[in-house]
Amino acid sequence: MRKEFKNEFSWSFSRDNIFNECARKYYYNYYGSWGGWKKDSIDEVIRTLYVLKNLVNMKIWKGDTVHKEISRVLKSFETTDVIGSFESSVKRATKIMRDEFRFSKAKEYWSTDKSLRKVNALFEHEYELDISDEQWIENYNDVIKCLKNFYDSDIVGELKDIGCDSLITVDSITPTSFDYNGEIIYVNLDLAYKVDDEVKIVDWKTGTGESNPLQFVVYVFHANETLGTPLDKLSVIEYNLQENKKYVHRYNEQEIAEAKEYINKSISAMKSCLYDPVENKAEIGEFPRTEDDWKCAYCNFKKICFDLP
Ligand code: SF4
Repeated sequence: MRKEFKNEFSWSFSRDNIFNECARKYYYNYYGSWGGWKKDSIDEVIRTLYVLKNLVNMKIWKGDTVHKEISRVLKSFETTDVIGSFESSVKRATKIMRDEFRFSKAKEYWSTDKSLRKVNALFEHEYELDISDEQWIENYNDVIKCLKNFYDSDIVGELKDIGCDSLITVDSITPTSFDYNGEIIYVNLDLAYKVDDEVKIVDWKTGTGESNPLQFVVYVFHANETLGTPLDKLSVIEYNLQENKKYVHRYNEQEIAEAKEYINKSISAMKSCLYDPVENKAEIGEFPRTEDDWKCAYCNFKKICFDLP
């Protein structure tokens, strides 16, 4: 018998980020929009929250395009042992960006039957921001630059040398889960591979901001739990494709213990807002709006948030 598709509680780094940013935004993302992918069978508010939840701004679109293309290249490498060419990546990414731009500009995301996890709907189009052609072109050029830096990176060089058998996981699209004290934790590893007895976890960055160490500690925690790799044999390579810079991070027992403690507290705080934590049931009134008004200017939900109770 097919398992019922339930809204189960889970924890992830991005979920924690949203919860800390604005509890109401968290509610819209994980509860209010649940079921909104069924275009014709749910109420208007749920559908609206679902569509808005899936909007991405142009910088995230850039990162998403780069991550998906790298994932395609590495998945092909996994089965063929051959890394494709930069030129073919440029061709594919260009076509995808053109198609997605047209789809988004026409706001077709409101009427599509497709899952909005597969196609991009842009915040700039929904909120009709004044973005010049030059800014769109610069965003596209950044994608190409990131792809070029990926192909030229020493990571690709190392993978070519050691071959596809070294790959442990390749994905940046579908998160994987693991169990921690009975809770589901989701992580989204871009790439993990083995060199001798060391495991390298790669996180591709495409922005210019500071990274958050918690995200990387959770990767190490995950690899340590699921692969059994000792901490001194695990590293996270943060590869900034925009700036073409690489940073290597390692974490010790103490840092993992602190991360676990943080996750426990974060889960407790999230669950304390639920009226039925066992069934993962939430009520909108338990999730207050942020008092930092400036956050609303960049929020996907701003067009509906203040019309709701
Ligand atoms: S519009 Fe403001 S208050 Fe509403 S969900 Fe977004 S950030 Fe929170």
